[in-house]
Parts: sequence; C-alpha cells; structure tokens
Amino acid sequence: MKIVMLGAPGAGKGTQAKMLADRYGIPHISTGDIFRYNIKNGTALGMEAKTYMDQGKLVPDELTVRILLDRVAKEDCRDGYVLDGFPRTIPQAEVLAGELDKISDRIDFAVNVDVPDENIVRRMGGRRACLSCGATYHVEYAKPAADGICDRCGGELVLRDDDRPETVKSRLAVYHEQTQPLIDYYEKAGVLRTVDGTQDIQVVFDDIVRILEG
Ligand code: ADP
Ligand code: ADP
Ligand code: ZN
Repeated sequence: MKIVMLGAPGAGKGTQAKMLADRYGIPHISTGDIFRYNIKNGTALGMEAKTYMDQGKLVPDELTVRILLDRVAKEDCRDGYVLDGFPRTIPQAEVLAGELDKISDRIDFAVNVDVPDENIVRRMGGRRACLSCGATYHVEYAKPAADGICDRCGGELVLRDDDRPETVKSRLAVYHEQTQPLIDYYEKAGVLRTVDGTQDIQVVFDDIVRILEG
C-alpha cells in the first residue's frame, strides 16, 4: 500500500504516518526527517536544505525529488510506504506519479489531515521533536513518559528551529500557496480521502484505518 499524507505543517501527518507504518509494517518516509538528519550530521545536503528550512521556505524541487526517489527505490519500499511531507508541490507529485507509472504502479490513497490554521499555531509551540529518530511529541497532547526524552530511542527532545511562531506563519503561507493545490490534484486522481484532524490522535487514526481498510 502506497500512501501520501497531506495537510498543513502541524496537522498531525507525522504522528499518523508513524502509527500507520507500525500497523502495516511499511516504512514511514519523511523528507523533513531526512533533511534534519543531514543537518544534524553536517552533510552538504543538510547545509543546503537548512538555508531554506530556517526561513520556512521549501527546499527546491530538484534536490527534494532526488532524495525521495533514492529512498523509495530501496528494497524495504517494495510493498509500500507512507510518505509524510512529500509531495509538497505539483511538480513533485508529477515526478512521483511518473516514476510509479514506469512500474505500472500508483499512489493508493492521499490522506488529507484537515486542521484549520488557528489550531496549527497553538499546536506547533508545544511540539517537541526527537532529532535522532524523528518521533514527535506535544507538551500537552502527546507527552513523553519522561520530560525531554524520546520514548522510542532515548534521544533528546527539542523545539525545532522552524517551529517558532514567526516561522510557522511563513510555513502556513507556503502551504496554502504551494501545497494545498495537491488536494485538487489527488481529488482528480480519485484517491483523496479527508479526515478531521482536530479530533484526538487515536480517533483520527481510527478514521484513517477505516478508510484504508473500508
Ligand atoms: P512539518 O512536519 O511541520 O510539515 P516537515 O518536517 O515535513 O515539517 O518539513 C520541514 C521543512 O523541511 C519544510 O518547511 C521544508 O523547508 C522542508 N521540506 C520537507 N519536505 C519537503 C518537500 N517535499 N519539499 C520541499 N521542502 C521540504
Ligand atoms: P505534521 O507532521 O503534520 O507537521 P505532527 O504529527 O508533528 O504534524 O504534529 C504536530 C504537533 O501536534 C505534535 O506536537 C503532535 O504531538 C501534536 N498532534 C498531532 N496530532 C494531534 C491531535 N490529533 N491532537 C492534538 N495534538 C496533535
Ligand atoms: Zn527518538
């Protein structure tokens, strides 16, 4: 099963993508996590991506697409994957569709996690991220067992540089301008499914599972 998660920054794509990956035993692929991992390790890719991410802008399509296609070509992706944060532009979606088409394949579902902008700004200030494994927590809604420490890997939890309120506003603007058109794109492809992302994490998950298995 090949799934794309759509939604504004902070809508809960990553949270749901991880739960889906666990349930179906398929990889969770987050381009944001790949970039952050590279930044943490000081690679050339990381340095380049950081200049865009810190401003709340998108990393250029050419670079992002290359990273993503490399990742989905790996053996563990054969039976499917959950993409989180990719595609974020129409050209990215077109390249992905083109690659899949070469192997007579396609995205099965694009799950749109719908959350209004007002809720987003509140959520992002409370998000804490593990830069080692990519897990995310929330100081109120999804607390780790021990303060500041990742349940999954014991890594340190931090407020991401781009989760400060000023940057969140630019990211939301970028989302509406460049990423929201994908909702129409996947609607036309007949694979769009929308869930109410303002509900509790488990309720959102149950809704998604019902869609995928329904
Ligand atoms: P969020 O989960 O809050 O939406 P991500 O971790 O997905 O954030 O992305 C963080 C940043 O990484 C984005 O603001 C952007 O700069 C960059 N990025 C991630 N995925 C993409 C992509 N598909 N295309 C361009 N830039 C991306
Ligand atoms: P995205 O990947 O779309 O940027 P995340 O999954 O990282 O979003 O979620 C953003 C923040 O909101 C995190 O702190 C997460 O713990 C929290 N969160 C996710 N889903 C919900 C929900 N349904 N209700 C409340 N908080 C949530
Ligand atoms: Zn971790």
